[in-house]
Amino acid sequence: MKNLVEEIQFPVGQGGLHLGVINDFAYIYDCGALDKDNEEWNNHFYEICAILSRAYDVKEIHIYISHMHYDHCNKLFSLIKELRKIDIRSGKIYIPKITSPEKLLLLLDSNISIKQDYGFYQFIRDPIGSFRNSEFQVIELNPSENNEYKPQETKSHLGIFYEHQWILDPFISKANNDKKLLNFSSKVSDPKIKEFLDKLLSNQQDRDIAEKLFDCLENEEFFDKLQTEYRNHFESNKFHESMLCLYSGPQNYHDCYIYNFCIDYNFCQPHCHKLYRFHKQKRYFNHFLGWLHTGDINLKKIEDTPFYKYYKEYLPDKVSIMQIPHHGSKNNHDANFLNIFGNNIKEKLFYLTINNQKRNKPGEAKMDVSDIFGLYLDHLQILTEYPNKGIYFQILLREK
Ligand SMILES: [Zn+2]
Ligand SMILES: [Zn+2]
Repeated sequence: MKNLVEEIQFPVGQGGLHLGVINDFAYIYDCGALDKDNEEWNNHFYEICAILSRAYDVKEIHIYISHMHYDHCNKLFSLIKELRKIDIRSGKIYIPKITSPEKLLLLLDSNISIKQDYGFYQFIRDPIGSFRNSEFQVIELNPSENNEYKPQETKSHLGIFYEHQWILDPFISKANNDKKLLNFSSKVSDPKIKEFLDKLLSNQQDRDIAEKLFDCLENEEFFDKLQTEYRNHFESNKFHESMLCLYSGPQNYHDCYIYNFCIDYNFCQPHCHKLYRFHKQKRYFNHFLGWLHTGDINLKKIEDTPFYKYYKEYLPDKVSIMQIPHHGSKNNHDANFLNIFGNNIKEKLFYLTINNQKRNKPGEAKMDVSDIFGLYLDHLQILTEYPNKGIYFQILLREK
């Protein structure tokens, strides 16, 4: 089977896992969830491997990590292990570049102790080094100061899909943490910790010094102290990361239609086949079809954001499916977000991923999703681990 596009947003709760295949080009956007040990993950990996080995000649894979929060990248190493089994042994892993002090805050912020997940700790501390012995290459994408340009370290992937051009286009939005970090170090009470932070802040570019300093973190007592200071200081003011967003879709697209579209499937493990229930089948003719991955980006007052500047051209016509950022958090978007689509909103599908078990249960006061239901009505799909729900579609081109 050739000339096929498949895009699957897996039913992962808070976190994300997306597989896109365009002929022999394959990419994954985010690979993690809050509930890391959920056994459903094996099913997702079976599914990914089944798709990649079934019909395509995929030899390497492009993995985009929106940001380094635990729930967006904690299954990366397991994924790569699984891909080896089907002979995909190399690829590129694109991540937003973050400074050493930001790495430290990320570790303190994640609520995961070094003991609990040493692999995650290594990945944050030294993303490139943690893949040094594999054929996967980590590429840190540097957001530009004014956010008006694409990251220099990668180009858009352009592919030809029949005569049409396909584009996979990354964009990085820079988080401004500098002031926050300085502020933190000025308020820390423990002199040793203050010294540690000051050294890290004054040598942001010096990898060797950062490496040496990070060794201190493996001392549990020191890490605990730092984490306590962090929590005292940042209780309601969490650390934000630079965000990698990704547009995947055709620039020019006619005579295509969506062959399958489903939002509910069950994976039958012993027999390795999928049981689909097609709740919806949508077909677009003569229409752009694109998918916009937004990670956990902040889109409040969207019209003022660099994201909007960058994607303004795409949003009304070229984006058909869009992720509501940050699992539907009120802090990351508001009603303005919908206004920008105008009447075109009827043709869009929005989705968000929430964890069914731990938090964000629909109807619970703690969560924001009930507000979102009201805003999006039936344009919204919610993906959780339970029950098995995913968005799956294939695009086929009509024979000329
Ligand atoms: Zn998240
Ligand atoms: Zn996040």
